[in-house]
Amino acid sequence: MFKLPELPYEMNDLEPYISAETLEYHYGKHHKTYVDNLNNLTIWSDFDNDDLENLIKSSQWPMFNNAAQVWNHTFYWNCLAPNSWWVPKWDIVELIERDFESFEIFKEKFTASSLSNFGSGWTWLVLTPAWRLEIVNTSNAGTTLTTEYKALLVVDVWEHAYYIDTRNARAKYLENFWNLVNWDFVNNNLK
Ligand code: MN
Repeated sequence: MFKLPELPYEMNDLEPYISAETLEYHYGKHHKTYVDNLNNLTIWSDFDNDDLENLIKSSQWPMFNNAAQVWNHTFYWNCLAPNSWWVPKWDIVELIERDFESFEIFKEKFTASSLSNFGSGWTWLVLTPAWRLEIVNTSNAGTTLTTEYKALLVVDVWEHAYYIDTRNARAKYLENFWNLVNWDFVNNNLK
């Protein structure tokens, strides 16, 4: 059986940027439904969370969609943290400044990419095999796990990520997102 991973914080820990109500729906209903669907699709198997990445790399719709959405959401929750903070000596900062000139320019480009991601999807900061940072959009359940890129940071731009808190305003959701990025997690993904 696949299990819904525990959130690394309490439901109200991301307030005022992401409400407990959003987490109750987004984690408690949307993410949980992908886990439930995946379990229904694999009821004949003895797959569990350890098989998730291989399943994503080898499966097709509808298994792929549900498995990838389980993984993407878990990765997204880990990208967020209450009281997020910024330590300029980290490797990720050096790479951002090397590849985007400055942290502010990186933020602008990542936000612009998220805003231009049409419909439902995910916007990622990735590390290429040549050890360059890039911003990549995927649609629907699309995930960098099936590419040569290593995911460092992701934002969920499905409307279900923000309609409770900011209604239709993805830009406002993204503004809030920058207050929650877990740079410790992003930096550790370089290793
Ligand atoms: Mn979502």
